Amino acid sequence: MDYDMLVIGSGPSGRRAAVQSAKLGKSVLVVDRGRRLGGVSVHTGTIPSKTLRETVLNLSGWRERGFYGRGYRVKQDISIGDLIERLHKTLDHEVEVLQHQFMRNTVKSARAAVKFLGPNRVSLTADNGDYSEVGFANALIAVGTRPHRPGDVPFDKKRIFDSDEMLELHHLPRTLTVIGAGVIGVEYATIFSALDVPVTLVEPRNTILDFIDREIVDDFIHQMRDRGMTIRLGSTVKEIASKPDHAEVTLTDGRTIRSEMVLYAAGRTGNVASLGLEMVGIEADGRGRIKVDPQTFQTSTPNIYAAGDVIGFPSLASTSMEQGRVAACHAFGVTLPPAPETFPYGIYAVPEISTVGQSEEQVRESGIAYEVGVARFRETSRGHIMGVNSGFLKLLFSVETRRLLGAHIVGEGATELIHIGQAVINLGGTVDFFVNNTFNYPTLAEAYKIAGLDAWNRMGQG
Ligand SMILES: Cc1cc2nc3c(=O)[nH]c(=O)nc-3n(C[C@H](O)[C@H](O)[C@H](O)COP(=O)(O)OP(=O)(O)OC[C@H]3O[C@@H](n4cnc5c(N)ncnc54)[C@H](O)[C@@H]3O)c2cc1C
Repeated sequence: MDYDMLVIGSGPSGRRAAVQSAKLGKSVLVVDRGRRLGGVSVHTGTIPSKTLRETVLNLSGWRERGFYGRGYRVKQDISIGDLIERLHKTLDHEVEVLQHQFMRNTVKSARAAVKFLGPNRVSLTADNGDYSEVGFANALIAVGTRPHRPGDVPFDKKRIFDSDEMLELHHLPRTLTVIGAGVIGVEYATIFSALDVPVTLVEPRNTILDFIDREIVDDFIHQMRDRGMTIRLGSTVKEIASKPDHAEVTLTDGRTIRSEMVLYAAGRTGNVASLGLEMVGIEADGRGRIKVDPQTFQTSTPNIYAAGDVIGFPSLASTSMEQGRVAACHAFGVTLPPAPETFPYGIYAVPEISTVGQSEEQVRESGIAYEVGVARFRETSRGHIMGVNSGFLKLLFSVETRRLLGAHIVGEGATELIHIGQAVINLGGTVDFFVNNTFNYPTLAEAYKIAGLDAWNRMGQG
């Protein structure tokens, strides 16, 4: 056998599995067909979109507008060059850190497309046609996904883009239509809206982000509309056309939307087509997703694991990393404690949303008697100082056990603040934690204390 662990794909799950395997003293080869290591997360997904968001918020002065008004801007004429410059620096740094991590841990890497030849052997084909074969004891399929590109959408990187191509814009759109109000769609729609680009968001369903607490989503939609975004729910796209001077989206109800550019962000497909899964008896579904044992991440072929976006929901870099680590530990006989049931979900829209544990809809469905505590950021001194006039935290507690069941945030700092709720939930903490503990002042985290007291006032001392 050439390697104890062969990792196919160098995104978050592949990277973490590779390093974990190496730390256990195993020989590891990571193969990625991309030009540079890092996967979707580093090159087209998480890090680029978050860098873009940070740059937009900084240059537009978005965070200061609560004080200085909607017309406030730090930099008057923001160009695509301003956005891309920071992007490249951040990505270069990410790749460098990853390469160094592999080097320190003696993880070998190669650039090639991988195809299974059997349960212990793959072929590697480089861009220049060079062919080789490698034997392995265990493998991890960490090949991720790519944007779903229906044949009737005329992607041209001029007017019609997918989410990967949004990083190759030549100039900022004067107007933008975003098709698909999933996480990627709402992130890009709100980022461009923060640049004062008029944005229309189109979604065939009547609701968005269904896995998030409804009250949080309603507030989010209100905030988007309040700043002038057009949101068309229940609108199915019939046709998208690229015209010489604009793009045109025709809806099935006959209405048309004209804009300079269109971002088509309606789903992603697993990169399984050329992997030779049939050679190892593994099947993928219609969207290219592979089924695994949720505890071990083994596929139907026990020495071949799969992790990350290729196994479907939640399709996050954060969860992918953990999946990779768990798969590597299982492959080499390391027993881990069971994973906590809850993990945080972060949506880096403007404003941010983050959530952990059960939504109010889920708690209601379970029949548990519950109480809600709410704190608006504008009630906190930190909120006053920052000029934050929107956003809130919602906590759900069991009346019987007093335990925290769910924490949900929309607003500034949500994706950082959520970890307090996560720790309390996973450590079995109750409403009394928030009431009895001192929080730094002035902070947005104080909202936890305010929301805790809000619920406690109705729940009593128990
Ligand atoms: C726009 C956008 C924003 C996102 N924002 C966030 C966020 O804020 N937070 C978050 O947690 N997640 C976010 N995500 C999701 C996150 O990027 C993914 O969950 C994560 O990248 C999945 O990791 P992965 O391990 O599946 O591998 P991926 O990162 O998907 O990488 C897969 C790698 O496999 C390689 N590969 C594919 N097929 C082969 C083959 N046959 N042979 C060799 N190599 C192959 C590819 O070249 C690629 O490098 C975002 C995604 C997108 C698209």
